[in-house]
Amino acid sequence: MSNKLQWIETELQTLKDSGLYNRIRTLSSPQGAWLVVDGKQVLNFCSNNYLGLANHPRIVKAAQDAVTKYGVGPAAVRSIAGTMELHLELERRLAAFKGVESAITFQSGFTANMGTIPALVGKDDAIVSDELNHASIIDGSRLSGAKILRYAHCDPADLDRVLTENRGQFPKVLVITDGVFSMDGDIAPLDKIYEVCLKHDVMLMVDDAHGEGVIGAGGRGIVDHFHLHGKVDVEVGTLSKAFGVVGGVSAGKPIIVEWLRQRGRPFLFSSAMTVPDVAACLAAVDILEESTELVDRLWENARYFKAEMKRLGFDTGLSTTPITPIMLGEAPLAQQFSREMFEAGVFAMAIGFPTVPRGKARIRVMISAAHAREDLDKGLEAFAAVGRKLGVING
Ligand SMILES: *Cc1c(COP(=O)(O)O)cnc(C)c1O
Repeated sequence: MSNKLQWIETELQTLKDSGLYNRIRTLSSPQGAWLVVDGKQVLNFCSNNYLGLANHPRIVKAAQDAVTKYGVGPAAVRSIAGTMELHLELERRLAAFKGVESAITFQSGFTANMGTIPALVGKDDAIVSDELNHASIIDGSRLSGAKILRYAHCDPADLDRVLTENRGQFPKVLVITDGVFSMDGDIAPLDKIYEVCLKHDVMLMVDDAHGEGVIGAGGRGIVDHFHLHGKVDVEVGTLSKAFGVVGGVSAGKPIIVEWLRQRGRPFLFSSAMTVPDVAACLAAVDILEESTELVDRLWENARYFKAEMKRLGFDTGLSTTPITPIMLGEAPLAQQFSREMFEAGVFAMAIGFPTVPRGKARIRVMISAAHAREDLDKGLEAFAAVGRKLGVING
């Protein structure tokens, strides 16, 4: 018998022994404020369903109608026979919503980064990246073959230093930052980062996955939040978080979008977004453009929850967005906290190394417009009880 796969067994055992093995919970209900997880009804504090759109009746109906009319599968990549009028309409609507000139969609936010970064820089060039950027930025950067330089998290002065020391050695330089950082909920100082990029004449890309539908006027994203329209070269985003569907987008200067239609590899070599996804995204744009009600409710919920958690004595870290980390320190405590919360009927995941630095384990609460005030109060009650039991807060 060959044992060529034995190494995987060993690796998996190492993960299990160190408490880093992913045990994946299973849902048997639609997305929403409440879920059935592993057979148990629980309050949902884990989804990126910021606006409650994932199971919104108008979005469901739009997907159903489109399937009736156009079927399901795209049957081709965008550059061969996979571009339908629906795709172009979504791209126009997303650009208009975000207040930029042009947009191109991808199958996911992950593939948007895989497509965009290597199209902009290659092996002679450099990428200057916030040290806490998302895994898909890191992978897209590696794929490009460019030299990767890091600057201190959300620190424009350090970005300036890295550019001053290195700019001259590379024909092209691309600065990349997350818009909203998914583990801490802090917002990149994009206005200051833009000034530094302007000074050094380098390209600027922001990945606004957790900002779209959340920050800026009516959820128009980070470029709108800082009034940087026309200044940021390219804004990558996802349609799978606040938009409640699945898909990715790169939006910004028309020449970049035109280039991505020629050179974005997931656009050229992986099939287009499906019909129901595109139609559902169009309905999401409609909802966002018609009213700020959901975005307003999201923020009202986030402010209430965060203020009450602080009042109870919890440390919610650096967050200024609906992403609410509950800082706990060591990973085993965070894991135990999460298990006790689940017992108490609240689904809130623990996050530890390597997703966050060692000693900075936390529970990450994702607030949604789908939560009613009573839901938040139930969550707060469970946090208070478990926090006291485990000695995280007094009283
Ligand atoms: C979630 C996320 C992605 C990936 O988006 P998907 O559409 O789920 O592939 C990319 N970048 C950032 C910053 C994210 O938070």
